[in-house]
Amino acid sequence: MPEPVISLAEVSREFDAEPPVRALDRVTLRVDRGDYLAIIGPSGSGKSTLLNVLGLLDRPSSGSYRLDGTETTTLRDGARTRLRGDRIGFVFQSFHLLSHRSVVENVMLAETYRSRGARRERAKPTSSEAAATINAAGQARKGRRERALAALERVGLGHRTGFAPDRLSGGERQRTAIARALMGEPSLLLCDEPTGNLDSRNTESVLGLFDELRGQGMTLVVITHEQEVSKRAGRRVRITDGVLVEEE
Ligand code: ADP
Ligand code: MG
Repeated sequence: MPEPVISLAEVSREFDAEPPVRALDRVTLRVDRGDYLAIIGPSGSGKSTLLNVLGLLDRPSSGSYRLDGTETTTLRDGARTRLRGDRIGFVFQSFHLLSHRSVVENVMLAETYRSRGARRERAKPTSSEAAATINAAGQARKGRRERALAALERVGLGHRTGFAPDRLSGGERQRTAIARALMGEPSLLLCDEPTGNLDSRNTESVLGLFDELRGQGMTLVVITHEQEVSKRAGRRVRITDGVLVEEE
C-alpha cells in the first residue's frame, strides 16, 4: 500500500475562548495520491481551521497528522516550514498578486521570497494566508523564469505572461495564483474557497483547470460552500461543528 498524502487520526483543535471552542472534533481523514476531495460545511463549521492544520499553518491540540508518511505533529517549526514548502501549494479566495509585477514575475516570486526573504519586497506577512503564498519550495534560483513560464503554460496562461494582473479576468488571476502554487512541484494543492470571488464563467475556468491537474495526478483538497464546485470533486466530506463526516 502506498502512503496516503494525508492521514489524520483523531485530530482535535481547541481555541482558548470564553467559552472554549472545539473547532475540530476528533477528525479522521485519509486522502490518497490523485484524490480530489471537496470539504463542505456552513460558515463557522471548522473548514479554515482544518485547512490550516492540513497546510501545517497550525498545529492540532491532539491527534496525529501524517503528510506523505511524515508525522508532522512532533516536528519543530523549521522542519514543518520546510515540509510545507516542499509538499504543499496553497490557493486562497483572494489571489494575493502584486499589482506592480507582471504575471510571470508574480509566479517567480514564489521562489524569490523563499530564497531572499520576503521582507525587502513587501510588508511582513500578517496572516497565515499571506505566509503560505510565499512559501513555495526553495529550489535553486537558476531556471526560475523557465519554471514560472512552464507553470503558466500548465494553467493555460502562456499568452498572458507579460500582462499586469489588473488586466486579467478573475479566472485568469486565480489561474496565475495556481501557477504560483505549482512552482514548488507540491504533492498536494490546498484550496480555500478558490472560486469565492469568481462569477460562474470564471469559476468554470478554474474548475476546468482542477480537472486537468487531477488528470495529471495532482492531489487536490478544495474547501467550498458552492455545490457547483463540490460536485466536481471525486469525493466529498462534510464538516459540522468540527465533526467531519464522509458523504456517500
Ligand atoms: P469556517 O472556515 O468553516 O467558517 P473556522 O474554521 O474559521 O470556520 O472556525 C470554526 C470555529 O472556530 C468558529 O466557531 C470560529 O469562531 C472558531 N475559531 C476559529 N479560529 C479561532 C481562533 N483563533 N480563536 C478562537 N476561535 C476561533
Ligand atoms: Mg473559513
